[in-house]
Amino acid sequence: MNDLEGYIDFWPEFEPDCEITGADLCFIYSAGQILVRKSEQIEIPCYKECEVLIQDSKDLWYLGTWCGKACFAYALEKKEELDLGSLEWIGFRDSRWNDAIECYQIVVKAQHLLNWDRSTKYCGCCGNLYQRKVDERAKKCPNCGHLQFPRISPAIIVGIKKDNQILMAHNSSFREGLYSVIAGFVEQGETLETAVKREIYEEVGIKVKNIRYFQSRPWTSIDSLMLGFIAEYESGEIKVDGKEIVDAMWCDKEHMPKVLPDRISTAWHIINEIIGLDECEV
Ligand SMILES: [Zn+2]
Repeated sequence: MNDLEGYIDFWPEFEPDCEITGADLCFIYSAGQILVRKSEQIEIPCYKECEVLIQDSKDLWYLGTWCGKACFAYALEKKEELDLGSLEWIGFRDSRWNDAIECYQIVVKAQHLLNWDRSTKYCGCCGNLYQRKVDERAKKCPNCGHLQFPRISPAIIVGIKKDNQILMAHNSSFREGLYSVIAGFVEQGETLETAVKREIYEEVGIKVKNIRYFQSRPWTSIDSLMLGFIAEYESGEIKVDGKEIVDAMWCDKEHMPKVLPDRISTAWHIINEIIGLDECEV
């Protein structure tokens, strides 16, 4: 993979070439937090630093290689009362992730995979215990043959432009004062473009045009892959649904809400693309 360096740095695989070694990276996850070295930057510990926390190496999940280093994921059940030494637990909203996007995406992969493993122990068809497949990332029921693959749930997130303004909305589940762009899960059998139109119309009652793809980002919530779009306002008055969205407004660069999405989110990058957050004081 050496010729891919700088092009695709993380290469997903499901089976390592050899046994785990002390230098391999361990993405240890527990209750929404990841174990890192105590440092000003994000540094993922290697196996020899956290071997003592891993009760059974059979429970390690191989993720692939990142810049030539093998990466493993492990779910730690109980993290309280552990002597971590030079390591610490951090959450997904820690600002240090902003400068470690690629590492963040591997962390999201680890979290999705471990959640998938935890929530798919038994066959959904016959209730038998699944077994891990050896030839692909999947589980198979030894009784009825049902296959279970890790799931990704696509969600759209869209910034709406109107002249020099962007539509900012407060969702009832947001922390106080936070405004962001519109987002929602794609329905079965729905195109991304229709999902964009539907979510906007459902939540704020307006129509849009010139929908264009912007960027994507794996996200921590419910195995989602956020697919970012930018659209232009076409018609209608803002009318919030009152359930998901409780307030929405058009904002220009000088009058943005005080609390904006975290910089690591697709939402922040969409807002930045439309109004240029990098240049304004928020
Ligand atoms: Zn079955």
